[in-house]
Amino acid sequence: MVRAIVGANWGDEGKGKITDIMACEADIVIRFQGGANAGHTIINKYGKFALHLLPSGSFNEKVINMIGNGVALNIPSLFGELKSIVDKGVPEPNIMVSERAQVLMPYHILFDQYEEERLSDRKFGSTKSGIAPFYSDKFAKIGFQVWELFAGEEYLKDKIRSVLEVKNLILKYVYNKPELDETELYNTLREYGETVKPYVVNTVEFMHKAIKEGKNILLEGQLGSLKDPDFGIYPFTTSSSTVAGYGAVGACIPPYEIKDIITVVKAYSSAVGAGAFVSEIFDEEADELRRRGGDGGEYGATTGRPRRVGWFDAVATRYGCMVQGTTQIAFTVLDVLGYLDKLKVCVGYEVDGEIITSFPTTDKLNRAKPVYEELDGWKCDIRGIKRYDDLPENCRRYIEFAEEKIGFPIKIISNGPSRDDIIYR
Ligand code: GDP
Repeated sequence: MVRAIVGANWGDEGKGKITDIMACEADIVIRFQGGANAGHTIINKYGKFALHLLPSGSFNEKVINMIGNGVALNIPSLFGELKSIVDKGVPEPNIMVSERAQVLMPYHILFDQYEEERLSDRKFGSTKSGIAPFYSDKFAKIGFQVWELFAGEEYLKDKIRSVLEVKNLILKYVYNKPELDETELYNTLREYGETVKPYVVNTVEFMHKAIKEGKNILLEGQLGSLKDPDFGIYPFTTSSSTVAGYGAVGACIPPYEIKDIITVVKAYSSAVGAGAFVSEIFDEEADELRRRGGDGGEYGATTGRPRRVGWFDAVATRYGCMVQGTTQIAFTVLDVLGYLDKLKVCVGYEVDGEIITSFPTTDKLNRAKPVYEELDGWKCDIRGIKRYDDLPENCRRYIEFAEEKIGFPIKIISNGPSRDDIIYR
């Protein structure tokens, strides 16, 4: 059985925690897109961890954690992370890396920084992890797949020379920055090869065999629907597809095998980076939610940047669930809202005097004003509650209102950051 855990919003919905719980029953957890540019926070018996590239099954010795071919593989970052969790007492996780995954180069990170510098106040708010330059190169066919790290000297040197020819022209004439050295890059790639070699597998054969044997496979998504380059708030999106369907490509799973798509939806909104955010709130109202949000405040797991926050947006979430092909929703971080007297839910967008409930393309989105309905708060702490019926009535009303507006079933509720704070409905 193949199951995907993905986000409906802008990321940071709490996918890491849900994946960590589901990983208990999984044989294989796979990252199929993205890179080290976002973080999952996981709290378990070993402590609190922010994972960036390691799959969330890394705390379970029985799980195989796979870096699929769709991932932007930052080798120093992956192995730095591996070391950091082992140093904290976590048993050495079982890691595999697709031989077809592409390698994020040191210059991708530089180009990301230089481009944001060049754009200045028009910048995208990139995490500067090299993701956009990486995927640009992948699809421009000048990337390096893992197997190329082990290729013959002549092949690798020729390819480096040809790629750096154009990179150095851009560095010199567009960014006015130091040029890259072929020998240094060659040596770096050979070192990368040594590091990754013990983990490299043919994932196509491996996954097909695993499916045939009936293994439980978990696809772990990064970011959320609204950051997808096709369906999100383009161009303020990420550079790889964040939808469950991309698991078929990024992890080589036959599309008809992805049976369960758990879409993680956050009980309020948060976002990092630039781009439209219709139900965003500001000033003291925002500061309070940001301070109380998540586990220890709404600050980016990768960058530490304060996240933008807002009311729950049913328009964006319904759309986000549609593009994922949701079979069930995990509704998270609900406990945070217990301090509010009244909660607003964005149920429509007003665009040029008209009220719409379907999520528009970016030009209309930029002009959209939120249409709110207000619900009463429950004014208590709901952490520790284990049964749906034991939740306060106003809290259930909020969940059921959100569910009706989204149009997909909320079957899992997360009422606290730790593994035990979970209610199945
Ligand atoms: P991800 O990228 O989707 O995995 O999300 P993050 O881990 O970046 O952000 C979610 C934050 O919310 C983390 O700090 C989690 O520990 C925290 N979190 C997850 N679920 C809950 C929950 O139900 N309640 C609270 N209070 N925090 C949660």
